[in-house]
Amino acid sequence: MENVIIIGTGCAGWTAAIYASRANLEPLVLTGTQPGGQLTTTTEVENFPGFPEGIMGPELMGKMQQQAEKFGARVEYTNVNGVEKKGEAHFVVKTDSGDLEAKTVIIATGASPRHLGLPNEQSLIGHGLTSCATCDGAFYRDVPVAVIGGGDSAAEEATFLTKFASKVYLIHRRDELRASQIMAERALSNEKIEPVWNSTVSEYITDDSGEMTKIKLQDTVTGEESELEVKCVFVAIGHIPNAGFLNGSGVEVDENGYILQKRGTETSVSGLFAAGDVSDHVYRQAITAAGNGCAAALDAERYLADHE
Ligand code: NAP
Repeated sequence: MENVIIIGTGCAGWTAAIYASRANLEPLVLTGTQPGGQLTTTTEVENFPGFPEGIMGPELMGKMQQQAEKFGARVEYTNVNGVEKKGEAHFVVKTDSGDLEAKTVIIATGASPRHLGLPNEQSLIGHGLTSCATCDGAFYRDVPVAVIGGGDSAAEEATFLTKFASKVYLIHRRDELRASQIMAERALSNEKIEPVWNSTVSEYITDDSGEMTKIKLQDTVTGEESELEVKCVFVAIGHIPNAGFLNGSGVEVDENGYILQKRGTETSVSGLFAAGDVSDHVYRQAITAAGNGCAAALDAERYLADHE
């Protein structure tokens, strides 16, 4: 039986792995479907302490993995479908490659991009609809694109896309950005970015081959409708916590599905800990996720000591 299984390999998961492995717990880390987590879909990270020149997101995650493996963390590239508590200090983690047993489990599965819920969006993903400018931006050179959202992600993606697109419409449902001042200013002062205030997207319009050609907009103040020609829409309207696989496990979540931490990082199920964006809808920063991952490893270590 494993001492600790860590599910997820974003900042929270790798930091938990670094601390658990340095405590000689030889953690087993399960990557999930997006090894490295959300930072692997970003470009330069400018606010992670210790990197005054900035560091590319994927490089930072690679370094965290290296650091965890150096101290004995083991990695399995598999997806988790459920976690079941069998008894005190006894969990079964159900994965695509079979069941695993552990004395403690740390959930660090992060959050996934939210979409608008428009009828044809599933078929459009990869055909002019995406939530990752870093992944897909370069496919849209010298054509107009749109970013939906008003937070840091939207501002950052819009700014990044100006490297490729002929024009970037930044579509926001209000008339001021939620993004931090520095990122908002950077986006709004870029001459390729045109803000489209008080607007929501009500329809994605495609050509006969199913590729995005236009979007229908609705003015949130006047109700007026209009259309914009764009080749791609980058959706940046927040995230949904990746906790659905815990349904039926007894882990309590809030009304938006974020895992509730009850005592330190411990969930409502003793011996099961949560860290990072899967349980944090407030801060959601790489560094806060990392700090929370550290706390989860320390909490798991204490739980194990209490159950020796
Ligand atoms: P966010 O801050 O929650 O912003 C989501 C944006 O989407 C808001 O402007 C919101 O509008 C809009 N929105 C939500 N639902 C919508 C809907 N159904 N239709 C239209 N618009 C909708 O999310 P985020 O930008 O992904 O940022 C998440 C966290 O990560 C934040 O803490 C942010 O600071 C951090 N982050 C940091 C960096 C960085 O520092 N480099 C980069 C990216 C993200 P309202 O404003 O009207 O609510």
